[in-house]
Amino acid sequence: MKRRDFLQSAVAGAMASAAAPDAAAAGGKTIGIQVGAVSFVDEGVEQVLDVFQKDAAVNTLFIATFTYGRGIAGRQVPGQPLPDHGKQEYDTATFKGGSYTKVHPQYYKDTVLQDFRAPDFGDYDVLEAVLPAARKRGMKTVCWFEDVWSATVPHIAEVQEKHLDGSNATTLCFNNPNYRNWLLGTVEDYSRSYNIDGIMWGSERQGAFANLLGASHGGGGGNPLRITCFCQFCERKARERGIDPARARAGFQALGAMLQSSRQGKRPVDGYYVTVWRLMLRYPELLAWEMLWTDSLRETYSALYNKVKSIKPSIGVGWHIWHNNSFSPIYRAEQDLSEISKYSDFLKMVMYHNCGGERMAGYIRNVSSTIYGDVPQQELLDFHYRVLGYQQEKSLAEIPKTGLSSDYVYREARRAREGLNGTKTQLWPGIDIDIPTGRNSSKSTPEGTRDAVLAAFRAGSDGVILSRKWSEMKSANLAGAGAAIRQLGLA
Ligand SMILES: [Zn+2]
Repeated sequence: MKRRDFLQSAVAGAMASAAAPDAAAAGGKTIGIQVGAVSFVDEGVEQVLDVFQKDAAVNTLFIATFTYGRGIAGRQVPGQPLPDHGKQEYDTATFKGGSYTKVHPQYYKDTVLQDFRAPDFGDYDVLEAVLPAARKRGMKTVCWFEDVWSATVPHIAEVQEKHLDGSNATTLCFNNPNYRNWLLGTVEDYSRSYNIDGIMWGSERQGAFANLLGASHGGGGGNPLRITCFCQFCERKARERGIDPARARAGFQALGAMLQSSRQGKRPVDGYYVTVWRLMLRYPELLAWEMLWTDSLRETYSALYNKVKSIKPSIGVGWHIWHNNSFSPIYRAEQDLSEISKYSDFLKMVMYHNCGGERMAGYIRNVSSTIYGDVPQQELLDFHYRVLGYQQEKSLAEIPKTGLSSDYVYREARRAREGLNGTKTQLWPGIDIDIPTGRNSSKSTPEGTRDAVLAAFRAGSDGVILSRKWSEMKSANLAGAGAAIRQLGLA
């Protein structure tokens, strides 16, 4: 950095800290934004923080510290238009993923996962680079990492989940001690090595039963034998709970066979819905296995929470809750907030309104080829609007082109806030700013973003997290969030 530039940014930093929009200034509300290392490398730390503070009064950074995914790290997803800031080129060749902070090996002695440093920026440590500047401005820093791995990590095969057919999945098993110890080691590394304010982890997955029914907005229609997890650790845990793994396997095989033949155009004699129920009644292990998976995720949350609190109780710990919570009643039932709140200082419940239309349509398509095979898709959507508590959303043909409304954000936030009443847990809804959608699908606008933020706060939220990452957001849409924050007197 040239001396003149240094002085300029030092002055800018001093001015910014004089008017630091810290949590107190925002009436105690968290104004968060997700950002990956590449943005700080491309645009400069002070410049990025300046924009966050000036455009949206951001007071909390959610820095992507570990992931092998492009959702929260790297530049714009290739194929999507580049935003009006940052390097005007895709990082297709250079994006690798992994840990964007230094790995301190003493915390990873009890796991075979030891070689996961992101090579993207050499020795660059995003927390070392950003923490001092953020602190000077009164901004908080939260380590944000997710359950997304690469098959290239050494020894990963020993940690991967097992499919029903015995083959390895690409996902890792929470009941495998190598993964549990890696997760515990990572939060210990963050807590002891850096002066951070919080840790957020996210897992966008569900159990075998929900997956086999295609009860989510992505994927669907895969090989029914490629559901998880049937590894030795999960089977042992099942037996300890009195669940017979052989009966579970038989149930999943029977359900898989029904779905396989329905794909070949053979409708079950009694229809889809009745046949799924018959299998659930005959094999209650189908549901027991789903709950085993969900409880394993909850135990992981709890273990991570307790680990951090045993090191430094002031570090806030919370979870990113997958968007499927807005579409699938099964997944929503699994997100029992009174239970999860016991080990959550905050929850980022995803309420992405714009991409939500396209995703809701994807969910309806998926389940209309399994359990709801006899129900016309618009009727199925209307049913879901009813049972999920949405009132002002558009038809199946329209929602990919319009997105969901700000009323959806309001209803989701109000429901979650009520579910958390009486607990210590803060609600920070995830707000959609330019999350990639299909070529002909709706795109974020400044007004839509503003209205989503207003709706979240009107519903009583304790903050918002602007998502998914700065490197895919347009400045005008970030400013839309800022307009809401100013309108609410939080800036
Ligand atoms: Zn397993």
